[in-house]
Amino acid sequence: MRIFIINILIGLIAAIIADSKGHSFLRWWIQGSLLGPFALIYVFFMGKKVTQSSGGKKENLISCPHCDKMIPPDASRCPLCHQKIDIIDVS
Ligand SMILES: [Zn+2]
Repeated sequence: MRIFIINILIGLIAAIIADSKGHSFLRWWIQGSLLGPFALIYVFFMGKKVTQSSGGKKENLISCPHCDKMIPPDASRCPLCHQKIDIIDVS
């Protein structure tokens, strides 16, 4: 019973992290409750969800100074060419 309560709490933490990254809060609460610490580790290392057309909210992408591909503005390293991204003036 105690493990069950702990898992629900872990699921809640996982859900909060997942939600902050644009993932489903409820889905991750359920998954986190089922998977326990594994879900927590997973959401912690999980990348931000790239907003699709359904959301309406579109993330502004920036172009990588090294390879000129579109990358997330908060990326510290280009996911495509793996070069370190220095602070770029987006405006
Ligand atoms: Zn690049």
